[in-house]
Amino acid sequence: MLKVSEIFHSIQGETSRCGFPSVFIRLAGCNFNCFHCDTPGARTGGSPMETAEVIGVAAGFPGADHATITGGEPLLQEGVYDLMDGLLDAGWRVQIETNGSLGLEGIKSGVRKIVDVKTPSTGESGSFLMENIRLLGVADEVKFPIGNAGDYGFSVDFMKKHLSGTGALINFSPVYGIMDAGELARMMLRDGVTARLNIQVHKYIGVE
Ligand code: SF4
Repeated sequence: MLKVSEIFHSIQGETSRCGFPSVFIRLAGCNFNCFHCDTPGARTGGSPMETAEVIGVAAGFPGADHATITGGEPLLQEGVYDLMDGLLDAGWRVQIETNGSLGLEGIKSGVRKIVDVKTPSTGESGSFLMENIRLLGVADEVKFPIGNAGDYGFSVDFMKKHLSGTGALINFSPVYGIMDAGELARMMLRDGVTARLNIQVHKYIGVE
């Protein structure tokens, strides 16, 4: 049984999958209270659904073959592992977005992990579970939400100290409406930072 906030078909606006359609399965509940949270409605509540029902809804969208499991914080729910298995068994490509505070060891290698490192302006800095670093590989991605120059410095430092050996793709994500993406790009170019500028495209196209 899962607590589901919403299931919808849209364009993935972030990470290497940006621009491609995906079915978003948003699980309810979160252990954080980020200052810039863009899904506050998913932090509580949710409707109970069986795994098969969730997969059935996802399969009803035209052409759907890729799922993004997100939240809230999806790893808080035990049922998320059955959901990932069920989607993989049915031939879906799957990625999961997590806030970085919970263990990744239960996620199978066929699932792309998109893992946040919370920055100081989120109010949840210091929450990243360092044991997770050894579980990141070339198919996975790390995302830093950047709201100001202090977050940028934190992110560059963290990336250099802890992530260089993982092979994971690093995303620097300007917080929409707070951090100017051009300013962030100029800082990255100035400093030779080889992360990916992760502009949240879905905020610009008028599609949820
Ligand atoms: S982890 Fe995600 S859902 Fe939870 S408070 Fe932070 S931004 Fe919102």
